[in-house]
Order: sequence, then C-alpha cells, then structure tokens
Amino acid sequence: MTMLFNTENSFAQNIEENIQKNVSLETFNTFRFSYCAEYFAIADSLDSLKVLLAWAKHFEKHITVIGGGSNLLISADIPGLVIINRLTGIQAREHSGNFVSLTVAAGENWHQTVEHTVQQGWFGIENLALIPGTVGAAPVQNIGAYGVEVKDVVTRVQVVDRETGDVYWINANDCGFAYRDSHFKGKWKDRYIITSVEILLKKQAELLLSYGGLINQIHGEADLLSVFNAVCQVRSEKLPSPDKLANAGSFFKNPIISVAQHDELKTSFPQLVSFPFNGEYKLAAGWLIDQAGWKGQKYLGVGVYDKQALVLVNYTERTAKALLELEVKIKSTVFDRYGVKLEREPVQLPCTREIV
Ligand SMILES: Cc1cc2nc3c(=O)[nH]c(=O)nc-3n(C[C@H](O)[C@H](O)[C@H](O)COP(=O)(O)OP(=O)(O)OC[C@H]3O[C@@H](n4cnc5c(N)ncnc54)[C@H](O)[C@@H]3O)c2cc1C
Repeated sequence: MTMLFNTENSFAQNIEENIQKNVSLETFNTFRFSYCAEYFAIADSLDSLKVLLAWAKHFEKHITVIGGGSNLLISADIPGLVIINRLTGIQAREHSGNFVSLTVAAGENWHQTVEHTVQQGWFGIENLALIPGTVGAAPVQNIGAYGVEVKDVVTRVQVVDRETGDVYWINANDCGFAYRDSHFKGKWKDRYIITSVEILLKKQAELLLSYGGLINQIHGEADLLSVFNAVCQVRSEKLPSPDKLANAGSFFKNPIISVAQHDELKTSFPQLVSFPFNGEYKLAAGWLIDQAGWKGQKYLGVGVYDKQALVLVNYTERTAKALLELEVKIKSTVFDRYGVKLEREPVQLPCTREIV
C-alpha cells in the first residue's frame, strides 16, 4: 500500500498504522452513540489530510469528516473512511486602523479561539463563546448565538477538494451562508473539506448586547471581557455540557413561516414567541415544544432537557433508535398543534433522508 504514494511524507509511509479498522465513534460524537467507522484516521496536517484523500480515492472509499462531533446524529455504522480533523495553527495579521484578520486551521477548538481573541482585545466573536466544536465546522452550519453569526466575520474559507486534492480559498460571499446553513451543508457536502477559516475582527469596541437577556447579566460597564463572561455564564446555566449529559445542542432549527401563517397563529396563541426575519417570521422552536408539553419529558433512555426544550439529551442509550423515535413524536405533536414543521439541526450520519 505504501507504494501508492510516491512521497517522502512519513504519514504516507506509515499509512497502514495511520488508518485503523472498525473504530468506535463513541467519544467522537457528543450524543455518545457507539457506532463504528469502517476505516478511521486522524488528520493533523494538510499533508496527512491529502494522503488520506488519495488513499480513499484509490480504494474507492466514501469520506466522512468529523470535527468535535457536536452537531452530529450518528445513527448507524459509517462505511468508508472517517477522518477526524485536527489541523492546528492560528495566524494573526494586524491591519493599520481598526482591523485584524485571523487565519485559523480547521481543527482548532472554536471556544478556545474565541477566548484567544478576547484575550487579545479583538471584537467580533465574543457572543459566540462556549459553542462546542471546531473552527472548520463553524461555517458549515453558519453557527450563531446572541445575534451574531459566524458569516458576519468570515472573509474566506480554505478548502481541499476531496476528488483532486487541490487546495484553494473561497470568498465568504460565495459560500451560500444562511440561517444555520451554507453550501458546505448542501451542494458542497461531498466536495470540500474545510482546512482553514479567515475571519476579520475589530480592535475598537463594538458590542452587541440586545439579544437573549445578555445585558441583564452584565454588572457595571459592558466591555469585551464582561460580554464574553456573560455569554459563558448564561450558556452554562441554560445548556447541558456534553461532558456531563450527552447532547448536540439545539436539536431543531427555529422554523421560519410566512406573515399570514404567523398572524393566524398569533390569533390562536397570543403568547407565541416570534421574531421578524427577512420579511417573514422566525418562531422559537423551544417555546413550541415546551408548550406542547415536552419539556423535561423522558422517553426510554433519552429525553427533552428540562431547562431548554430545544435540546434533546441522551441519558443511557448506545444507539440512536430511541432518539429518532422521540424526534418523530415531537415533530408530530408540534405539527398537530401549530401546523408548523420542525426541521432537525444536527447532521445525520451516515447520510440518509430525514423523515419530516
Ligand atoms: C451544548 C451545545 C451547544 C451548542 N450551541 C450552539 C449554538 O449556540 N449555535 C450553533 O450554531 N451551534 C451550536 N451547537 C452545535 C455545534 O456546536 C456547532 O454546529 C459546531 O460548529 C459543530 O462543530 P463540530 O466540530 O463539533 O462539527 P461536527 O459535529 O463534527 O460536524 C458537523 C458537520 O460539519 C461537517 N464538518 C465538520 N468539520 C468539517 C470540515 N472541516 N470541513 C467540512 N465539513 C466539516 C461534518 O461532516 C458534519 O456534517 C451546540 C452544540 C452543543 C453540544
């Protein structure tokens, strides 16, 4: 097999040791489901990633890339090669005036990156503190919290083409960023692996405090550190840490509905929690699930988190069966009551069609 790669690369020379067979993914997904990868490897450099791509191409193996596994619903063993992205490195370039651009390798931890920028006094991603996972996955679903989305700061994304191994940069404007969505989750899903993300931050204060009661958590003057600390505080009170209780954060997206449907619903349910959104309305999915009586409910070894109905948790299950059943039950109760279809946020692996 080594002959396949005409290279000095030591990762390639030891390819048999670097690719393992039938590896449990239990510690590589925050739901802690214990399915296996048929083949498994960790890429800690661009070169090793390219070698893995060449291997997969040669042996016609499908590739699945995982970062922190915090937005995954693994529901069966994954055929082909699972690559864990651990590419590291951060470079900062200060521009004259107000800006600093940061190039961060895809395997860096997102929260630690936010912490680093706060320590440096750079503004822009402090509201996105404590979101689990890697930097490379952040553009995939355009992570967001407290009124900020990663698309607000991303300028370019570096990718490697799975088929050719070519590496190039894609401008943020071409990435199809939308609410919890991008081309990386859609039409480019099987085409690119993100290897690096460039973000543009500000050196002068620009804080966004108007979302999620953030302002009430800040005592005294609001500054970069106090906002970062407030976000961490609110999130740790409201969301279960995957280290203590297995979960993948919000299990459903907030549904977006037309003005007409919204007005009708508001008449029947005056307490409906909704926000104007691009000429339509975004509903708080957590409120719908809570009002439908699901908050804190358990079903077999899984359940709906008692402090935030948007989060489904896994207490004891080793497979996704009970969770998938609970998902169907919640979707159907919410649809029967409100006529609103809930859509799942985490990505199902191996890829299958979602039952709506
Ligand atoms: C407690 C908790 C709170 C959360 N809060 C939020 C929140 O506030 N806002 C929010 O938006 N999300 C939130 N999430 C979801 C999750 O943290 C984010 O979606 C995060 O970006 C996922 O990163 P990851 O590295 O774990 O991705 P993974 O779960 O490993 O992967 C997610 C998807 O991205 C793909 N992918 C991963 N890396 C790459 C890459 N380098 N190139 C191409 N594709 C890739 C995977 O194949 C998969 O399809 C939360 C999750 C948890 C558990």
